[in-house]
Amino acid sequence: MCKNSDVLIVGAGFFGAVIAERLAVDSGIKVCVIDKRPHIGGNCYSSVDDETGVECHHYGSHIFHTSNERCWNYLLNFTQFNAYRHVVHTKYRNQVYTMPINLGTINAFYGCNLTPSDAASFIRHEVERSDVKHPVNLEEKAISLIGRPLYDAFIKGYTLKQWETDPRELPADVITRLPMRFDYNTRYFDDVHEGIPLNGYSRLFERMLDHPNIEVCLNTNFFDLGERCKNYELIVYSGPIDQYFNYSEGRLNWRTVRFDMQRHDCSDYQGCSVMNYADSWIPFTRIHEFKHFHPERQQLQSTITYTEYPQAASQNWDPFYPVNTPRDLELLQKYNVLAQQENRVIFGGRLGYYRYIDMDDTIMAALDCYENEIRSRIALRLI
Ligand code: UDP
Repeated sequence: MCKNSDVLIVGAGFFGAVIAERLAVDSGIKVCVIDKRPHIGGNCYSSVDDETGVECHHYGSHIFHTSNERCWNYLLNFTQFNAYRHVVHTKYRNQVYTMPINLGTINAFYGCNLTPSDAASFIRHEVERSDVKHPVNLEEKAISLIGRPLYDAFIKGYTLKQWETDPRELPADVITRLPMRFDYNTRYFDDVHEGIPLNGYSRLFERMLDHPNIEVCLNTNFFDLGERCKNYELIVYSGPIDQYFNYSEGRLNWRTVRFDMQRHDCSDYQGCSVMNYADSWIPFTRIHEFKHFHPERQQLQSTITYTEYPQAASQNWDPFYPVNTPRDLELLQKYNVLAQQENRVIFGGRLGYYRYIDMDDTIMAALDCYENEIRSRIALRLI
């Protein structure tokens, strides 16, 4: 393990990597970054498959998107992005539609030919029929935006598979991640900037962490360190918050996913990078075909797909998504109180905050944490 470091960073995903980079470059402080996995990059990790040449996102598709100029400019220090724009298709009852719901989805689903304003009044009527007045959960929010028939077809089954939780127990903002449109714009994200790192996510993380003040120790589990943690002035912890406290207040609900990887002897398996499966009786939620993320690269003869099966997180399956039921939010409050008492530890990232945030939110949270919290500790010579 790293010797002579002042700060220990637990987790080499975006939260940990940004803080490590800032401490090393901006403050000249020595940091030790540990990760229990054999690679950096957290869930963004990607690598090129030797057999096919396809760059796979090992923890599912990661498409970078942001409207935050500070975040975008920060990342441009480490990578360029390609011109990929994410478009998702979804299969329901053996028909393919575009997702998120747009004028094309509405017309195909209802078998009509509505204009944008016709579609808006038609959906308004569908929403009124459903009689949801004050939406407070995912189901009510979705119905208040698209009406019950579209909800039943494209959201309900997928959401039940993804979360294995009653959609009335899930927060409304999970569904507002997806736009709803009355034109034929099929882009998945509305953000100003979008793309995949030209040379992959791993190269981006390598460049962030490539500094004499940064030492990286892989295959190193924080919970095995014991007394060795005592030497650090500051610990930045981006693992699950409930695990840090040994689940003393109870276990938060987390979801994870399992992938079934297949190589195919054809140049294109499904014609797009992500195909969702909305029917509840199909056991997986989506199939990722990563080669579509790099149209600028040399075209390959074969392809790889990852089929995604959601499941509950457990000891052997790392958490990916916080479920955020009302019970979880109560528990989280207790953990946040405990976290505030840990003066030497900063909690962050999707797992440390227990918050369903995207890559850009994570990067911004880390930059703000460094500027507002860590720098003042340095000024007070606490590090
Ligand atoms: N969702 C859905 N049908 C879809 C896609 C998404 O019902 O075809 C819902 C589902 O509840 C999902 C949420 O919208 O968890 C957010 O989707 P997103 O694509 O942002 O999820 P992520 O890529 O983070 O897994």
